[in-house]
Amino acid sequence: MSVSDKEDRKLLKVWRELLVERDGDRCQKCGREGVVHAHHYIGRRRRPGRWLPINGIMLCPSCHKLSSEFTAHETPSLFTDWFREIYPDRDRKITEIHYHPFKGTYEDVIEMQKDLE
Ligand SMILES: [Zn+2]
Repeated sequence: MSVSDKEDRKLLKVWRELLVERDGDRCQKCGREGVVHAHHYIGRRRRPGRWLPINGIMLCPSCHKLSSEFTAHETPSLFTDWFREIYPDRDRKITEIHYHPFKGTYEDVIEMQKDLE
């Protein structure tokens, strides 16, 4: 992996901007509008899917972390089941990309960010 820490931070910023562009300020789980957080579908340390919009989703604070019934962080298997059902194509693509060896550069990632959704 040849992306520096500084480039990583820049790519995460672009990642978040692309999510805002796609999802707006609406929680993609419950539809609530207002404060939303960018959440990584597959854990953020697993590269390179870390920076691709197909691996991100905007969630309200409740669906992200706070609800006792369903949250991306507290009930991850429920969240994964839900995500797979709603976004089967994203799940398939991101799983392929994540577990495929990647030796690209910052510029390669920028291209990938543009190409996928
Ligand atoms: Zn929500």
